[in-house]
Amino acid sequence: MIHLIFCIFLFLLGASFGSFLNVVVWRLPRWGFSSLASPPSHCPECEHRLAWRDNIPVFGWIFLKGRCRYCAQPISVRYPIVEGVTGTLFVFYYLMFFVYHLSPCAPAPTGKLDIFGRIIYEPRLMMGIFQDWPIFSLYLFLVWCLLAVSLIDAELFEIPLIIPWAMAALGIVVHTLIDSPMVPGALNLTDPMGISAGLAAGGAVGLILSIALYQKGIIPEAFADGEPGLEVDELAYAAAVSAAKEQGHEPPQRPTTRDYTKSEIRGEIRKEIMFLLPPLLCSLVAAWATQSLPGLNRAWRGVLQYHWLTGLMGAALGAMVGAMVVWLARILGTLAFGRVAMGLGDVHLMFGVGAIIGGGAATVAFFLAPFMGLLVGLYMLIFRKRHELPYGPYLSLATGAVILFYCPISQYLQPGIQGLLQIVQGLVGA
Ligand SMILES: [Zn+2]
Repeated sequence: MIHLIFCIFLFLLGASFGSFLNVVVWRLPRWGFSSLASPPSHCPECEHRLAWRDNIPVFGWIFLKGRCRYCAQPISVRYPIVEGVTGTLFVFYYLMFFVYHLSPCAPAPTGKLDIFGRIIYEPRLMMGIFQDWPIFSLYLFLVWCLLAVSLIDAELFEIPLIIPWAMAALGIVVHTLIDSPMVPGALNLTDPMGISAGLAAGGAVGLILSIALYQKGIIPEAFADGEPGLEVDELAYAAAVSAAKEQGHEPPQRPTTRDYTKSEIRGEIRKEIMFLLPPLLCSLVAAWATQSLPGLNRAWRGVLQYHWLTGLMGAALGAMVGAMVVWLARILGTLAFGRVAMGLGDVHLMFGVGAIIGGGAATVAFFLAPFMGLLVGLYMLIFRKRHELPYGPYLSLATGAVILFYCPISQYLQPGIQGLLQIVQGLVGA
């Protein structure tokens, strides 16, 4: 019974957020952030301002029988569909987290030891919405952002960067405020030596340094006159233009492209590597310093006592790992194929995702995304829809799936992550 009440409430909440999603998807990429609040919603045909009852998610459209009250022009069925899907997803994640127990978890020590004398951890799942609503709300926000990114990226081949930035900001704030190692979904860096925390702190300093150097123009912008064009992009752009024409919308902007020789591409990629070097080097230096300098090591262990600090660093590390995995794939793919393998929008997207779900889960999502592409491609083949999708929707789909299954996956990955930390430990000579 209590579940039913929450499901109804969450559907209505989700549908309202879906209504705002329609506004964001249309206005944000075209007129920017400031256009979101005003003007109030109006009919795109006759510009008549809508009454509050026309704005009721899903039902407003049904009552109006899909036509504008004032000019009787049809209103796209896409609006109620997006609202309904958002509401359904909110309910879906509620049921998965709290009824089917497919949720983020926390490694809780059982007090028992295995045959090697190591503490046995048992995953602590989410208990219920009353205990776990802060993380649950953060995940609903994530789902909403992923929907927005997917819709905009599928239509216009771009990700407005303010969305992943908002994800990263909220992820870092929420994890700082509520993380403790016993909270499911918390990102506390709990390795006892504090190596991952050292990497996180150094990486964050290096990233800020890189951004500052980039702003000053000391680190040059790569592909400043546009990225090399892809045949796939051309096809997708043509499809988007004809779709826009059909619906009577203005066509999307053509992406700026330029042809590059192999050596020019290597030159551009070198600029991107310049941006990545400060975070990488600083993280190693910080890991070394916090392990090897006795005074600093003592202070560092003190720092690690504060859950809000290890949570903050966990979210920051998650963001950086998420972005780094995509960026490395972009660099390797671009060098191998002589054309840009993945957009910087995708790098930003996984930066935001990592800040919310953590670096491990973001990495798994990244490697799952091509399989989502395969599934969607198969569907399009079967239903004879020829429409290429950019990568953002696949990353979003994969993230939506990983949210549910990362808890058991993380158990398998645990030894690998420990091994990675030991390698870093060896590298920094601790
Ligand atoms: Zn109208």
